[in-house]
Amino acid sequence: MTEKTIFELSSPGRTGVTFPKSDVPAFELPDESLLRDELPLPELAEVDVVRHYMALSKYNYSVDGGFYPLGSCTMKYNPKINEDTCRLPGFVFSHPLQPIETVQGNLLLMYQMQEWLKEISGFAAVTLQPAAGAHGEFCGVLMMRAYHKARGDEKRIKMLIPDAAHGTNPASAGMLGMSVVVIPSDARGNVDLDALKAQCDDTVVGMMLTNPNTLGLFDEHIEQVVKLVRDCGGLMYGDGANLNALLGIVRPGDLGFDVMHFNLHKTFAVPHGGGGPGSGPVGVSERLADFLPAPLVGILEEAEQDVPALYGFVTPKQTIGRMKAFHGHFGGGLVRSYTYIAMHGPDGLKDISQYAVLNANYLAARLRGTYKIPFDRVCMHEFVMEGNPPNSSGVRALDVAKRLMDYNFHPPTNYFPLIVHEALMIEPTETENKDTLDSFAEALIKIAEEARENPELVKTAPHTTPFGRMDEVKAARELVLCCWLPEGYDNE
Ligand SMILES: *Cc1c(COP(=O)(O)O)cnc(C)c1O
Repeated sequence: MTEKTIFELSSPGRTGVTFPKSDVPAFELPDESLLRDELPLPELAEVDVVRHYMALSKYNYSVDGGFYPLGSCTMKYNPKINEDTCRLPGFVFSHPLQPIETVQGNLLLMYQMQEWLKEISGFAAVTLQPAAGAHGEFCGVLMMRAYHKARGDEKRIKMLIPDAAHGTNPASAGMLGMSVVVIPSDARGNVDLDALKAQCDDTVVGMMLTNPNTLGLFDEHIEQVVKLVRDCGGLMYGDGANLNALLGIVRPGDLGFDVMHFNLHKTFAVPHGGGGPGSGPVGVSERLADFLPAPLVGILEEAEQDVPALYGFVTPKQTIGRMKAFHGHFGGGLVRSYTYIAMHGPDGLKDISQYAVLNANYLAARLRGTYKIPFDRVCMHEFVMEGNPPNSSGVRALDVAKRLMDYNFHPPTNYFPLIVHEALMIEPTETENKDTLDSFAEALIKIAEEARENPELVKTAPHTTPFGRMDEVKAARELVLCCWLPEGYDNE
């Protein structure tokens, strides 16, 4: 990389802003010692700043720039109309502390969103508060704990979690002091029923299950799994991050789940690279509805003849309290996802899941002869293969992932889930056309060939990116969070 830092580009006296003449009286500051003499800010013209950041932005890979086949965390294209709606002045310039009579439109949108999510998932009630999926899990597990406690059932401490689960599941249960019991998967990638039975007793809080799981497989015994957990008095938590496979087809509420978080940023549309923003509403069955975080959006006065309904806030009877300041990620999460759902409607949402599943199965079919797919049956929206090409003297999944960048593809998730050796987890999503899927499959097939004929080429990839292969161990052990500082500042 040849790009200089913005400080290195600085030259004394250059300036990118002109302040207007002050039109208020000058004011003597009370204490000069509160002011700094030296503030090392870069000095540049506007055009230099724009070019600097444009150059940096071109180093980023994004779903707007190319195919992004990440597994588990659905990374789908965010239609641009969502950007228009979430910037509408009525939304942007509203404040959460405004009197409710002045924000009826926002409240109606939130109410409708609660209703739509209920309809999509089959749950009795929904909170929009949690900030993202993991926060939704925490909220859900808090409600599970409150439910048992309210019944005087205090000895329940075990949370059952399959070995295919996302790491946030055990983390959420662990943060609430529960002991996590790992349930293995069977040879077909389902929950191992015998292992589950052995753990079902009166100390079970519940089970946290992702279905389809992170292998992209729908559990073939889901009804038995739910029954086993419920029969021992436990609650079923659904990790809804993989809901992209189920829209309009299966409703977790109908399967007997008690609580589930949605990842609006994965299933619907919120661009969420680099850790944010997210939105993690939680749906619950009747049994948990009284424990939802407060406030929810409700109808305070029903509509009458010419008078529209009055929307406002309501508090569930046994609420666990507030999960977040104000009302969740309103503009960034809710307005965008509302637009997305409204645009597609029920049939459109069903198409989304069917195309997502078709695309994943198409890719799996194209790659099956080249890479090994260990739990090989019809998949849902994603599949996991062994990423080390056969007969390639030591080329690993990581090398294949890096080499994909040379073909201008974002690498898939690798080394997760842990139950697949050298895992590469691939989720094409519904928006990709056949040409893109074919080029991606052909790149992976070509890389397998390279791995056999010229393994060094793959092991040292990427070769065409601004930075080459990183030393990932060193990067993690010797963390440098700031690479350049103006004189007088040190790196401590
Ligand atoms: C992404 C994901 C989560 C966590 O959601 P965040 O919004 O990233 O906090 C949980 N479970 C699964 C299966 C996921 O893919």
